Amino acid sequence: QRVIVKNIPPLESTPSLLSQNNVLTKITADLQEIHKKNLYRKITKIDTVQAPHITCHNKDMILLASNNYLGLINHPNIKNAAIAALKEFGTGSGGSRLTTGTNPLHISLEKKLAQFKHFPAALLFNTGYMANVGVISALADKNTIIFSDELNHASIIDGCRLSKAKTIIYQHNNMADLENKIKLADTANGIIVSDAVFSMDGDVANLPQILSLAKRYGLLTIFDEAHSTGVIGAAGRGIVEYYNSSLKPDIIVGTMSKALASEGGFICADTLIIDYLKNKARSFIFSTSLSPAVIASSMEALNILENNPSLVKQLQSNTAYFCNCLQQNNITAASPSAIVPIVIGDEKKCSLIADNLFADNIYLSAIRYPTVKTGEARLRAAIMASHSHNDLSIAANKIASAINSIT
Ligand code: PMP
Repeated sequence: QRVIVKNIPPLESTPSLLSQNNVLTKITADLQEIHKKNLYRKITKIDTVQAPHITCHNKDMILLASNNYLGLINHPNIKNAAIAALKEFGTGSGGSRLTTGTNPLHISLEKKLAQFKHFPAALLFNTGYMANVGVISALADKNTIIFSDELNHASIIDGCRLSKAKTIIYQHNNMADLENKIKLADTANGIIVSDAVFSMDGDVANLPQILSLAKRYGLLTIFDEAHSTGVIGAAGRGIVEYYNSSLKPDIIVGTMSKALASEGGFICADTLIIDYLKNKARSFIFSTSLSPAVIASSMEALNILENNPSLVKQLQSNTAYFCNCLQQNNITAASPSAIVPIVIGDEKKCSLIADNLFADNIYLSAIRYPTVKTGEARLRAAIMASHSHNDLSIAANKIASAINSIT
């Protein structure tokens, strides 16, 4: 039965007692500055399920900005699994993992993730963000040196900051720069951390060379597989499969919020590291664990992925098709993942192109400073296995006309 929400009268605004507070003065000035620089971030409401076609601002639009890479968010088996778990275990998990918040679903999903990634053990976190922050701040301290790719995700950066380790940033995927910096640092207490697929560029980290440097210099390796799980490698197992590598990183960080159509982060590693994280990772210890429906959704998404590698092929061929459509319009585009960056450069032009595309029923993100460097603003298209070729060619043609009408 539908719940009818009646119009709720707005609360009368009460003057804040703290209107003279310095913090409020500072944030007011900061916000004004953000607006002035055209960098204000808005929240857009999407009224339908995440699918190739959405309703947004009362319009039917083609969505090219979702992390729902395999198109599984509305899959009936996943929804049924979520409903069954909710019926059996209720709506919430009732506690943090080390108190009352572990049920059989958590244990089974950890086993499944470890097996899927071919690791001895896995540990769930509430988000990928919390997994990165938790693992890095648990393993590193002020005596550790972390080598971090300059384009790593914000959650890796925040994990490094929280750990108080000395963090040395190397040039993006530049192995000579990384090796120079490792030699200069001369440490036996170091970690290399990298995105597996870079979230704003869509390119893949140089796993073989990073692992070989790590071996040569005795460093631990962490790879963030947020955008590679379900996306790269013949069966969507991620970066190790992509390179057919016989060697694995020490630690994989993942999220179930993208190709796995659910939410929650995870770490795969050997049992010693997982055991340590259970005792030391504060974002694991001090937060209520994931709810039953969420866990069951991730589990079913993994089952579907394992039984249907053709879904991954479909995603990969859709991305190649979309890049090809752009190239036919003389737009440079290529990507080994499902993220296709179309670099515009100027921030204002990029926002204007994205706004014009939005008016033309194409929803994709304009990525600007501080997410990417100044002058490297870009449109960022995210492809789904469920896009039709028709959706993708219409979108590519409209993107090309929008760019040509501005530049
Ligand atoms: N790592 C990368 C590379 C990401 O892009 C994201 C999400 N944007 C995360 C981690 C965080 O994952 P989650 O959304 O599950 O917190």
